[in-house]
This record gives sequence, C-alpha cells and structure tokens, in this order.
Amino acid sequence: IILNQENLDQITGGISTVGYDRKNIKSGIVHIGVGGFHRSHQAFYTHLLQEKYNAQEWGICGVGLREGDRKIHDVLTKQDGLYTLIVKHPNGKIEPSIIGSIGNFILGVDNPLLVIDRMADAATKIVSLTITEGGYNFNPATGEFDFDNPAIQHDLKNPDSPKTVYGYLTAALKKRRDAKLKAFSIMSCDNILHNGDVARKMLLSFAKKQDAALAVWIEKEVCFPNSMVDRITPVTTQSDIDYLEKNYGIKDEWPVTCEPFIQWVVEDNFSNGRPEYEKVGVQFVPDVKPYEKMKLRLLNAGHSVLGLLGAIHGHNTINACMEDKTFVDYLRSFMDKEATPILDEVKGIDLDQYKDSLEARFANPNIKDSVSRICSESSAKLPKFLIATLEENLAEGRSIEFATLVIAAWCYYSDKQVDKNGQPMEIIDAMAKELHTAAAKTGTDPLAFIKQESLFGDLAKNERFADLYSVMVQKIYNDPNIKKHMKDML
Ligand code: NAD
Repeated sequence: IILNQENLDQITGGISTVGYDRKNIKSGIVHIGVGGFHRSHQAFYTHLLQEKYNAQEWGICGVGLREGDRKIHDVLTKQDGLYTLIVKHPNGKIEPSIIGSIGNFILGVDNPLLVIDRMADAATKIVSLTITEGGYNFNPATGEFDFDNPAIQHDLKNPDSPKTVYGYLTAALKKRRDAKLKAFSIMSCDNILHNGDVARKMLLSFAKKQDAALAVWIEKEVCFPNSMVDRITPVTTQSDIDYLEKNYGIKDEWPVTCEPFIQWVVEDNFSNGRPEYEKVGVQFVPDVKPYEKMKLRLLNAGHSVLGLLGAIHGHNTINACMEDKTFVDYLRSFMDKEATPILDEVKGIDLDQYKDSLEARFANPNIKDSVSRICSESSAKLPKFLIATLEENLAEGRSIEFATLVIAAWCYYSDKQVDKNGQPMEIIDAMAKELHTAAAKTGTDPLAFIKQESLFGDLAKNERFADLYSVMVQKIYNDPNIKKHMKDML
C-alpha cells in the first residue's frame, strides 16, 4: 500500500493511523526544517492534539529553505504529508503509527514568495524552527550575528528572494505589519541554550541592518519562547523502510524512527495564541533555563563524549559504546564530576535518576544511533555543550580532565579522519576544513587545535587547561588506543 490520504483506510494490522478529518485543518504553524526530529517531536505532539482534541486551527505547513530539502518535499507531497513514526522500545517492541499533522510542504528554493505569503497569512500564528545549530548564523565564540556569511549579505540586499531563515522571517513579518496583522511567535526547537533568546537576538541583528523601523516593531510584537526539546531521533535507514513494507505492507519512502521517551518544556510566551499542548504532555513553565541546561550539559554533552571517543575506538553506534563498560564508567564520571556541579537546581527532577535514565536511553539496542550523526557539526555543538562546562569548571577550580580528553580526541578525529584501526571516518561539519587544518599542526604546535578562537575563545591561554590538553593530545597521537587512556582516568 502506497502511503497517502486515499489509501489510509486500507492500512490495518496493529498500526494506529489518522482518525481525524484532515480536510478542514488550518496551518496555524509554519515549520521550517522538517527533518527527522520535527517529525518525531512537534509534529507528533500536534498529531496527538488533533487526534484527541480536534485542534482544527493547528495544522502544520512544512517548509524547507534549502536544495537539500527537495527530497523530503517530494516525498511528503506525494504522501499528502503523511508518514510513519516508528517508536523503538528498549525491549525490542516496535510501535509504528501514521502521523497526519503536516498538511502540506513548500520548498523555498523553488518558490520563496509562496513561503513568505504562507507565513504572512492571517491563519499562521507560529513559525517554528528546527534548522540545526548552524542555521542560527552566530559566531560560536562571540555569540554575535555573522554578517560575513555571503547568504546573509545576499538577503540584506534582496528581501524578495531570500536564502536564509532571517531573510524569510523579516519579509513575512514586514508583510504582516503592513497588513496590520498580529505578529506570529517564533518558536525555536533546536538544541541551543536559550534557543528563543538566540533566535531573537540574531533576527533583530539582521532586521536592524535591513530595516530599522521593522526591527523596532519585531522587538515589540514578536515573542520567542525558549524551549527544551528531547527525543532521540536517529537518521532513517533503508532497513526501517524495508521493515514497514515487509511487516505492514506500507510503502513509506521516508519514515522516522525514535525512542519512546519524549519531553518538551516550553516558556508560555506567545504573540498570537498557541496550541493547548499541555493536554498531550507538554510542560509550560515560566523559565525553561534550568531544564535546558540540564539537558544540554548532560544528554547532548554525554552524546558527544561517547561519540568522539567511540569514533576513535571504532564503535559505530551509541548503544555499542554503552555495551562497553569503560565507556559507561567514563560517561558517568564525566556527568558526576564535571557536568552535575555546574547545574542549578531543577524543580521536580532528581538528577541521579535523570542520569540513570540517560544511560538506559543511550543503551537502547534498537535505536542504533550512529556515532557519525552524533559527531556531525561538532563545531556548532561542542562550544555550547562541552566547552562551556569546561570553562565554568576552570573558573571554579574543579575537575576538567574528562572533558579535556574529549577535546583532545576531537583534535585527533579532525586530523586523522580514521579510527584507531585505520578505518576512515566521515566528518560532517561546516568547519571540517578549518578543523582539519588546525588539527594537522598538532605535531609542531600541540596547542594548534585549541588556538581556534571562534571555538575556544582564549582558552589556549589558560595554563591549567593548556598543560592538561597538551599532555592528553600527545598521549592520543602517540597511542590512539583511546580506551587505554580512558581506563587510566577511571
Ligand atoms: P535533519 O538533518 O533530519 O534535519 C535538519 C533540517 O534543518 C533540514 O530540514 C535542513 O534543511 C534544515 N537546515 C539545516 N541547516 C539549515 C540552515 N542553515 N537554514 C535553514 N534550514 C537548515 O536533523 P534533525 O535530526 O531533524 O535535527 C534537527 C535539529 O533538531 C538538531 O540540530 C537539533 O537542534 C534538534 N534536535 C534533534 C534531535 C535528534 O535526536 N535528532 C533531538 C533534539 C533536538
């Protein structure tokens, strides 16, 4: 059965499908960046709301801004926005369901004006984002907007044919202001500390350069709720596609797989209304910061710890790392000794239990989250997830050993691009070239990698860190058996 609206009734056999009438649902939400995560998280919650509470105003119009989004555009258009979410439990149980909350999809590279009009339409109340850390266009060391990006320069000069999210948002908000419509909220769902504040700061930097009066209006009218999002969503594989066809007879060209755990904590701060997500388990809080910090500094940093060390060791998946006692013990020591001390109190959460649950989630043998996905875009992730923790611990004179070995491993990984057995590793990173060039100088200057100021600020000048890093990086270069070095620290 080819998955589409017409064939929905034919889908049976233990799979939950769409029980609501999708015809009259309005797209109250325009979502930019319909990757795996949006489809396992926000689109799933929105689907539940429609399924249980008939939330007619709150359908989703998917938007992709880049040529790379053509495939998802073509698949979702062919499938009338429908796709299968395959939840994989740790005990082996697999639970697929058809999700219906995405009504349609528009591709910005084909038709920028259509995207702008959709966002400027009165029915649109929220524009949400999962555009990866790189999409926010800030310099990781200074936190300031990067005006040197040629796509940003293009957008400043060409408001009617934008390429970046900032060009689109300002063009749509200008139309709304001119039409005397209320502004939409901009809801970031990316893994960035204070994601709403960052989106706001970056958009205002751009808007001020392009149209100062519009920037004043945006500052006053647009809400940017901060949120903490969580559900591990690996990249879809061919075997997921085959599984659905073999076991359920469903031909879905791009299903999504994920773990059963799901969490979304959002600040209740919206310009133009919001779905009643609290009815389906979303937590609305006045201040999301302690939750975000806990998640980024334990889960996301923990992922990077396992990913970078695991890549060098030759583990391909996160669950393979968690079958290896040295990795489990190393992760826990990092979390206990270096991440936990920098966290504030998180109301309603027992941190020991949270760390236990992270270990169990990472170990889920059905998720098979690839180490290469976790290591991708480390240059955007590590400054926020790991280097920030290291800096805070340095300032307080606390342990920095466990994070420092990971940074040294990152240098080796960026330089050699092979694991300890000589197997090639694919490096996916917007800064891959710069990382490689800096790392390759380690032989003559052991601190070359950490001298990259856009990532490390002036950390290379900190004697305690520089000395420790220098010892560790040389140890790895002399003997890439990373597990031996990890064991020595336990
Ligand atoms: P994905 O690769 O499946 O999708 C990424 C999407 O972002 C694509 O639509 C892509 O076109 C878009 N994008 C990338 N760079 C962009 C740019 N510069 N401008 C506009 N759009 C851009 O990735 P995913 O797994 O869906 O993850 C997306 C984000 O979601 C992550 O970066 C992270 O912040 C957040 N997240 C992911 C997970 C997870 O487990 N996958 C969990 C929590 C949060």
